[in-house]
Amino acid sequence: MSVLAAHLRQRISENGPLTVAEYMAEALGNPEHGYYMHRDPLGRAGDFITAPEVSQMFGELLGLWCADRWQAMGGPDPVNLVELGPGRGTLMADALRAAEGAPGFIDAVRLHLVETSPVLRAIQERAVGSHAPVWLDDLTDVPFGGPTLVLANEFFDALPVRQFEKWADGWHERLVDIDSDGFVWTVASQPTEDPPIPSPVRNSPDGSIAEVSPTSRGLINLLAARLVAAPGTALIIDYGHSESAVGDTLQAVKGHRYHDPLAEPGETDITAHVDFAVLASVAEAVGAAVHGPVGQGMFLETLGIGIRAEALAASAGSEQTVEIAAARRRLTDAGAMGSLFKAMAVTSPGLGTPPGF
Ligand code: SAH
Repeated sequence: MSVLAAHLRQRISENGPLTVAEYMAEALGNPEHGYYMHRDPLGRAGDFITAPEVSQMFGELLGLWCADRWQAMGGPDPVNLVELGPGRGTLMADALRAAEGAPGFIDAVRLHLVETSPVLRAIQERAVGSHAPVWLDDLTDVPFGGPTLVLANEFFDALPVRQFEKWADGWHERLVDIDSDGFVWTVASQPTEDPPIPSPVRNSPDGSIAEVSPTSRGLINLLAARLVAAPGTALIIDYGHSESAVGDTLQAVKGHRYHDPLAEPGETDITAHVDFAVLASVAEAVGAAVHGPVGQGMFLETLGIGIRAEALAASAGSEQTVEIAAARRRLTDAGAMGSLFKAMAVTSPGLGTPPGF
């Protein structure tokens, strides 16, 4: 048994079952043994591949998007550029390289990387160290107040979710308990009073499972409030649904295969789909403007991935040309990442509609 599994068993035997959010927070973020804390999970040799790891085109288009949003704010110097969960730093390296074409932008950028993993921080240093990034554990540490651009790709899906099961007498929280062999699902015997279920799904049939992410709500609330107080734009790209819906979307991945989320805490990447409707309504309630979500495929096509792919192919060999075309399809086809993955922008009121929406 892993050290983390032993720690979780101890915690449950002393204090009772964990909520799914508590389990997920420990499995991913336990400071010593959490999944993200001691490995590079990305890429072919790792557990999963993200859009910036599929192709440089993704980060490049996002970099040009940032430069455009900076110009739309009047080209302020300095401008905070913040990335939440930058992984290997690939997206940011590609973005900053592409944005060099916008005069003054790179010199104005104050780069802030919100990252908890020491392993990934070291890899990010190698990717974008020349841009003097400042690393932060938490969005609350970012010095807001001035113009700000925020990028978050596959970040919100890693934030812990609570799950509730609908019974005749209300919503009962799903919990993680232990038996003699390992971790098992259980359900609280009493319904949760005033459960934080989005209103469109509150009256779902018995047996339905609803997911909510209090951490995501807190984060988008903070982000939106800051974008109301100072000019800026946040771009959130992730997999999830545009409208709140019931369903268990918790998944664990290891070595590019699905695993049981309870089988090896700390050794698998556990995620849940992002509820964009909830993020949008929280941001709008604070007074920020929301654009999208739109499918990643449409977003990237509108930003000109076709032109970028042609430009890359023009100076590539025939094998690379095939790879570039395959990467574009993977990022944009509805059957691949083009439709389940979505882009949503949250902006200061009055900044106008960003490109791609
Ligand atoms: N954006 C990158 C990586 C996605 S993986 C890409 O697209 O390739 C998720 C990233 O979020 C990792 O860098 C992980 O370490 C970070 N992360 C996860 N939970 C976090 C948290 N609570 N606070 C800060 N960073 C977190």
